[in-house]
Amino acid sequence: MDKCSFCGREKRDTNLLIAGISGHICDSCIEQAYDIVQEELKKNNEFDVNSIKLLKPAEIKKFLDLYVIGQEDAKKFISVAVYNHYKRLMQTNQRETDEVEIEKSNIILVGETGTGKTLLARTIAKMLHVPFTIVDATVLTEAGYVGEDIESILTRLLQVADYNVEAAEKGIVFIDEIDKIARKSDNPSITRDVSGEGVQQGLLKLLEGSIINVPPQGGRKHPDQKMIPVNTKNILFICGGAFDGIEKKIGQRLNTKVVGYNASRDSDRIEKDNLLQYIAPQDLKSYGLIPEIIGRLPVLTYLHPLDKTALREILTEPKNSIIKQYIKLFEIDGINLDFEEEALNYVVNKAIEFKLGARGLRSICEHIMIDAMFELPSTNTNKISITLKYAEEKLEKVNMKKLKVA
Ligand code: ADP
Repeated sequence: MDKCSFCGREKRDTNLLIAGISGHICDSCIEQAYDIVQEELKKNNEFDVNSIKLLKPAEIKKFLDLYVIGQEDAKKFISVAVYNHYKRLMQTNQRETDEVEIEKSNIILVGETGTGKTLLARTIAKMLHVPFTIVDATVLTEAGYVGEDIESILTRLLQVADYNVEAAEKGIVFIDEIDKIARKSDNPSITRDVSGEGVQQGLLKLLEGSIINVPPQGGRKHPDQKMIPVNTKNILFICGGAFDGIEKKIGQRLNTKVVGYNASRDSDRIEKDNLLQYIAPQDLKSYGLIPEIIGRLPVLTYLHPLDKTALREILTEPKNSIIKQYIKLFEIDGINLDFEEEALNYVVNKAIEFKLGARGLRSICEHIMIDAMFELPSTNTNKISITLKYAEEKLEKVNMKKLKVA
């Protein structure tokens, strides 16, 4: 009597029994095996950390260029840092005790909000296929205070990695608003600084690379909760912050008088530009980051405020630019959408006029496009052109103050 060699079912109890050289397999075992194979493939494919393809810095930058406009210096620094980071990772894989140990190249990005800090970090993670998470430093507090424990950063990373610890240990964490945990004054105070220095001390442990016990579900540590040990040695930390007013510190250091700082938007931009590019670790220290943290963020670079030309490019140039997305959306409905150049310039001018930055571009476009997106799919229209007049008409109805995005 033929039987399935896996579950032992007899032929008559199966729908199908397939014969092999020295055994048989039934349909339900095939299905189960298929599921297991899929599950395994998914696990390996999603974050295949052992086969990270190490691109050369110039290739990394090229990839960043597809998504991020401008910010040449930041891209260059990040490309090299990421290259070195993963080179170091491979070195650790090969030889445990190499004489020259390459230090981790955690990165700190300084630049106004909405200039592409998160986008840069996100794009790097996309390129490498490693687990990536964004955390906001403002919610972190010292253990024992209201807010999230530092370890919760790693909980998120574990969650995106689907609790694959090995993958999480090679992931990237973007810590936003790192400037908000700066010590408020240069003098260490005797009173407790709940959201400042204590958090920096806690963060230090993560940045320098140690084994951290992570609560798998996040939240507060709980005595009965089983912790997952995660080694942060090979996790790349990218920190970002606006560091409002740091130009003054840079200026003081450079002994430069910031002339006409608020005189006009144009000169404002140029002055800021000029100063930020001289940013040095000691400026972060005068801003209130403790030296140990600064030491653990050896790659320091800056982002430019976005000018008109940059905003205009952001609208159409990145691989998944806002305008390309609208065109795609309409294409699915069989509608050919195009934007006249004046309409695009109008969007940029409004974003500048209302100081909405790059994030505002999307909300402005959304208001211009909403009626068309609502009405056109139910009509026979197969072409629409967004002219300056059309854009003006749609946007005039909107209270621009409402467009301000955080
Ligand atoms: P930040 O982290 O510096 O506050 P983000 O990276 O979150 O800013 O930028 C907000 C949005 O603005 C991004 O999602 C992107 O759409 C757009 N953006 C900002 N800067 C750039 C840039 N340099 N190139 C392309 N898009 C940008």
